[in-house]
Amino acid sequence: MPRYRELSHWLSTVDESLTPRPTLPGDTDADVVIVGAGYTGLWTAYHLARAEPGLRIIVLEKEIAGYGASGRNGGWCSALFPTSLTGLARRHGRDAAVAMQQALHETVREVGRVVAAEGIDCDWADGGTVTLARTGPQLVRARAAVDEARAFGFGAEHLALLDASEAAARCAAEGVRGGTYTPHCATVHPAKLVRGLARVVERLGVTIHERTPVTAIRAGAAVTAAGTVRAPVVVRATEGYTPTLPGQRRAVAPVYSLMVATEPLPTETWARIGLAQRETFSDHRHVIIYGQRTADGRLAFGGRGAPYHFGSRVSPDYDREPRVFAALRRTLGELFPVLGPDVPVTHTWGGPLGVARDWAASVGFDRASGLAWAGGYVGDGVGSSNLAGRTLADLIRGERTELTTLPWVNHRSPRWEPEPLRWLAVNAGLRLMTSADAAESRTNRPSRRATTFSRLLGN
Ligand SMILES: Cc1cc2nc3c(=O)[nH]c(=O)nc-3n(C[C@H](O)[C@H](O)[C@H](O)COP(=O)(O)OP(=O)(O)OC[C@H]3O[C@@H](n4cnc5c(N)ncnc54)[C@H](O)[C@@H]3O)c2cc1C
Repeated sequence: MPRYRELSHWLSTVDESLTPRPTLPGDTDADVVIVGAGYTGLWTAYHLARAEPGLRIIVLEKEIAGYGASGRNGGWCSALFPTSLTGLARRHGRDAAVAMQQALHETVREVGRVVAAEGIDCDWADGGTVTLARTGPQLVRARAAVDEARAFGFGAEHLALLDASEAAARCAAEGVRGGTYTPHCATVHPAKLVRGLARVVERLGVTIHERTPVTAIRAGAAVTAAGTVRAPVVVRATEGYTPTLPGQRRAVAPVYSLMVATEPLPTETWARIGLAQRETFSDHRHVIIYGQRTADGRLAFGGRGAPYHFGSRVSPDYDREPRVFAALRRTLGELFPVLGPDVPVTHTWGGPLGVARDWAASVGFDRASGLAWAGGYVGDGVGSSNLAGRTLADLIRGERTELTTLPWVNHRSPRWEPEPLRWLAVNAGLRLMTSADAAESRTNRPSRRATTFSRLLGN
């Protein structure tokens, strides 16, 4: 059995036993069977159970609740979405893009409400996000982000442009020249959120079977070695692990994001860094970095840049990439020289997230087959999985609501190319963005190649 506490700093600090719940004992029937006990599966179970208390809902999880990205992420419960407003408007029209963004804003508040109402202690802090600009090109992108928000009617109360001193007042990283700030993000302890949610859905009558890998999903059934759950509705909530299911190899590409956490930092250090409201923080570089000040005074900091593995393979071996951990540590030291030459990192970990071929997250339900799914959130699923869960509950119950008409509903992303094209394309993209960031820091000029690549993605 994997040592679950070693999977992330977060799982190592939850105040509960991680002993798996009982496996599926054999064949059984349900009204809804959900595959995967991360946020997506559990929010779907939560909203279905709240809406229809009598519903027989079974969640099947191959390891334990929170084993996947939900127990390992950066803890940004944000209103971010992998497709930009401009990209959404191009595909679905301006009103649909605005409605999607408003629903995401509301989702951050909704998660906060449920967490408070259900007593889920997950170190929630309504701090917003500060995204720094530390080079000329990053400043240009900060202004462009604000211009885009304004063009869609979102004012400074949604996304504000910060000058150097305003940005540094929130997060005093080295060389800050400006940035942006949005209030639409809360900082959470991700594993406490997912584990707490699992307990809440059980209280509502949902059954969770752990250590129960599903070997096939088909209309009317989720099949495991221990037995089959027959149900008219089957929900796939497996995100980065989806390619391990039969017939799903090219549905999403599992891309790894990796993190480090420092030891708790002294008060004097925090006085120099800031993040006084526990704002989540990032900067406007191409290869995403993300961080938070934890409730126990650590910096938890992550980034992409780990390679994509041939054939969309997912393995615990890929959670650890010494080269990426060293780069994250170096970047933390560059951002905050007060951490000293030997940044005091105590934990390193990582996990897979799901990327659709068109970079579009989606949620959907096919009433004819009873098959439902949600995912492809890239690195933005902490908030949007709640929106997905609420939307799936409405779709499955046959309700037409403002959620079921959002543009991501029933969107079908194209499949990824067969190998070796997929491997070549994803890794070339990752390398290009990394080298663009390095070139921009050297020259202080925007990288044309990175801009072209973003356009190619249609994002
Ligand atoms: C390091 C890292 C940092 C991130 N940071 C952020 C962040 O700060 N903010 C943000 O919004 N997003 C972030 N993300 C992304 C976010 O964590 C995910 O989008 C979100 O957790 C997805 O939830 P999920 O339930 O869809 O998937 P997961 O949490 O991955 O859950 C899928 C579950 O399905 C189970 N499963 C898979 N296959 C099977 C099977 N065959 N049978 C049964 N069960 C199965 C898995 O064990 C797993 O528990 C990050 C991701 C990573 C990896």
